[in-house]
Amino acid sequence: MDTLEDVAREVCACTDCPLHQSRTNAVPGEGPADAEVLFIGEGPGYQEDRQGRPFVGPAGGFLEDLLQSIGMTRDQVYIANMVKCRPPDNRDPAPGEIAACSKYLERQIELIAPRLIVTLGRFSTGRFLPGQTISRVRGRLRSVDGRQIFPIMHPAAGLRRQEMRVAIEEDFAKLAGLLDVLRLQADPASEPAGIPEPHGLEPHHISDTAAGYEPASQTATPAPSFWDVPPAAPPPAPAEPPSIEPPAPDEPLPGQLPLL
Ligand code: SF4
Repeated sequence: MDTLEDVAREVCACTDCPLHQSRTNAVPGEGPADAEVLFIGEGPGYQEDRQGRPFVGPAGGFLEDLLQSIGMTRDQVYIANMVKCRPPDNRDPAPGEIAACSKYLERQIELIAPRLIVTLGRFSTGRFLPGQTISRVRGRLRSVDGRQIFPIMHPAAGLRRQEMRVAIEEDFAKLAGLLDVLRLQADPASEPAGIPEPHGLEPHHISDTAAGYEPASQTATPAPSFWDVPPAAPPPAPAEPPSIEPPAPDEPLPGQLPLL
């Protein structure tokens, strides 16, 4: 029977695309095999390549802070990437490289069978929502081929621009409540864990729009940058804590989950 360890062994020996030539270590991914949440980033960076582990550089530190803010730790989630070997100079992974590596991610998804997949950034979001920009689809749950997909901007983007950091934190703040909803859907007798008070991050306000399941940037014009950055938004006004109220009728998007 196929296991995550099998996948990791094959990744570490893989020479199926040119990225194997420049890697120090392949980075298969890590986390419990029964993780409820699977985070999918783009590809290893410098630190990840050195250590053979995902999200151990500055973006990984931010991801750990984000998890802590909703009462979780990285030990509870599985973290993987679209490509398992570092693209030289942190360039974008090429389509052929993503295609060559996708077989490993597909097996990881099948084996973990997570309740929720959080895509971090445009590459992993594009895997499930092709043709959509991360600035348009971030912070909203979708059902794609039976998988629950929640796109968020890549944590590295939040290290570059404050307004993106706030957007990432807003989207992360929804995760705990979202998991409660998905657990209840799977098992109506389950006890909601509730939404913990954010901690471990600089306090910030959560806008009404970002707190619910409304599109968070309907008017945002995608910027032609690596992270598909939305333009700067004014500081959000103080508002109620994140809710899990049903979304208002809205322009439907392909695969949008009609659960809330
Ligand atoms: S990136 Fe993926 S396909 Fe390319 S060599 Fe590494 S493991 Fe193999």
